[in-house]
Amino acid sequence: KLLINMGNVSMSYKTKSGPTKILHDINLNIYKDEFVAITGPSGAGKTTLLNLIGLLEKPSGGSYHFMGQPVSSLSGFKLGLIRNRHIGFVFQDFELINDLTIFKNVELPLIYGGISHRQRIQKVTRVLTKLGLSKHLHYLPVQLSGGQQQRVALARAMVTEPALLICDEPTGNLDCQTAEVILSLLEKLHRQGCALVIVTHDMKVAARAKRIIIMENGMIISTKNIISQEEEK
Ligand code: ADP
Ligand code: ADP
Repeated sequence: KLLINMGNVSMSYKTKSGPTKILHDINLNIYKDEFVAITGPSGAGKTTLLNLIGLLEKPSGGSYHFMGQPVSSLSGFKLGLIRNRHIGFVFQDFELINDLTIFKNVELPLIYGGISHRQRIQKVTRVLTKLGLSKHLHYLPVQLSGGQQQRVALARAMVTEPALLICDEPTGNLDCQTAEVILSLLEKLHRQGCALVIVTHDMKVAARAKRIIIMENGMIISTKNIISQEEEK
């Protein structure tokens, strides 16, 4: 099943000297069982593309269908609903709400989604236990290490059981060992059927994906498919 279908998508921003085109002719299909890494130098347009994929912004040109729905003709409100229902986000700097407990941080997307109090308690407890954080439900983010905070962010992204998980430099602020824990969790999530799109400029992280998309100057300049050893056998 096709999740993401972009045809000649472009993105421009208004600047003092007129509109500046940041993305050009992006053609991209992502299916529901994929694990894709987007890489390339700083300023290549990776985050801009991620914001489009994640329905945080609308493209200025071309066509984008998310799960078959034409993004350009949907209202901001409708896009917000689709996003909350189907997409999870993980960022480099975790973006947890610092004056809410771990439990409340993870509960938030379920509140937006109108999930009942009883179900929220069940789902939040389950996902935090799965990620080894059951003892930290009532801690505040500052009381946790970076790796633990990123696991909380992952729990928050997973709790709605999204079809697509979008990660922007998910290991950018973590040491190697902690990064490895997060990467293994992401791979596990992928095996369980969640599509993953990861932006990273760390080639070691990108190499874990099944497809690597390389961007430069607002364009996709190449795509590599990685055939895992398992599949080769
Ligand atoms: P990357 O994530 O690959 O580093 P970005 O997508 O963040 O690249 O940015 C690509 C280019 O778009 C950069 O030159 C950046 O300065 C520019 N850019 C990003 N967002 C805006 C914006 N809101 N207005 C104007 N220019 C922007
Ligand atoms: P709206 O456009 O309705 O104001 P929001 O910008 O509040 O929507 O975002 C709605 C959903 O999108 C959130 O519940 C969350 O899942 C996701 N989202 C958007 N931006 C972020 C972010 N910076 N950090 C985490 N999730 C985000």
